[in-house]
Amino acid sequence: MVSQKDLYEVLGVSSDASKEEIRKAYRKLARKYHPDVNSDEGAEDKFKELTKAYEVLSDEQKRSNYDRFGTADPTGAGAGGFGAGGQDFGFGDIFDMFFGGGGRRGNPNGPRRGADLEYRMAVEFKDAVFGKKIDVPLERTESCDQCHGSGAKPGTNPETCSTCKGTGEAETIQNTPFGRIVNRRICHQCGGTGKYIPEKCTQCHGSGEQKRKKKIQIKIPAGVQDGAQLRVSGEGEPGKKGGPAGDLYITLRVKTHEYFSREGDDIVCELPITFIQAALGDEVVVPTLKGRANLKVPAGTQTGTEFRLRGKGVPHLHGTGEGDQRVKIRVVTPTKLSEEQKEALREFSRVSGDYIHEQHDSFFDKMKKAFRHD
Ligand SMILES: [Zn+2]
Ligand SMILES: [Zn+2]
Repeated sequence: MVSQKDLYEVLGVSSDASKEEIRKAYRKLARKYHPDVNSDEGAEDKFKELTKAYEVLSDEQKRSNYDRFGTADPTGAGAGGFGAGGQDFGFGDIFDMFFGGGGRRGNPNGPRRGADLEYRMAVEFKDAVFGKKIDVPLERTESCDQCHGSGAKPGTNPETCSTCKGTGEAETIQNTPFGRIVNRRICHQCGGTGKYIPEKCTQCHGSGEQKRKKKIQIKIPAGVQDGAQLRVSGEGEPGKKGGPAGDLYITLRVKTHEYFSREGDDIVCELPITFIQAALGDEVVVPTLKGRANLKVPAGTQTGTEFRLRGKGVPHLHGTGEGDQRVKIRVVTPTKLSEEQKEALREFSRVSGDYIHEQHDSFFDKMKKAFRHD
């Protein structure tokens, strides 16, 4: 195996560089060594080396493999670290990347994939725990049904754009410090469609598109976390000229609950009990998302003590089983006491006698020790 240069070194970035830093470093170097602008011997090899390094470090999976195994493809399919079947950067991609030419070059009238749509949706706490089927109302851009997407008034036809001769692109030649660069932009006359529409469709005014409302049903998986994203394949914007539709991404925002919160797959709640229950012990009823549950509070329970109700938590999203419900005890000190209650407590104090003082004194002894500096 050929000894391999460190990919981070190739791009001149540190191993903890952000995606953006990597992209910037690559762009800067690629401009310098791009064979179209640099005719020096070795520039092309350098450019290929940069591109390969970027291919790995710009891809989260490949980068993580490279960091861990020293190769982007730990299965060993591609010797030297670059998967043989890996993505191949053509110069066209590089140009798009540098100049943001407004889309891919090639036939502007060929099939184009529809845009991905992103949708944010609020989900009830309980629905995120147990899962639910939900209807999502969507508004999407679809092909105009009067002109079938041509944008021309029915009975008329679009003509070829005279400015770009149907290519949809305008070419300019630019002299830059890197040399002569051919810059391709979208034709302003036709907006890249390569067509001119003499008589526009009255429904879509020539755009060939219309907004349409649609409902789709999605299934929220049980145990899903706040911020999770669901991908609904093919429910994005429709493709153009026979291209495939984009995908729909739904980001879930789980609403907070009045009593419950989540820590991973555990449900956490606070349970207030009286100081008498805490002192004497009791069997109490605890609300759970699956109904009521009984909990034995042992005598002498302190505030902050946590009890677990096994299996009353959130189903694991991956795999079987579920988390627990954790019940945090809060002992409530009574505030409004009747004279009779006060007397009873004074009596309790009398009966306790030295006990209360001992507790008090030993606590202060500990405090003193804690703050002593000798
Ligand atoms: Zn044009
Ligand atoms: Zn139309």
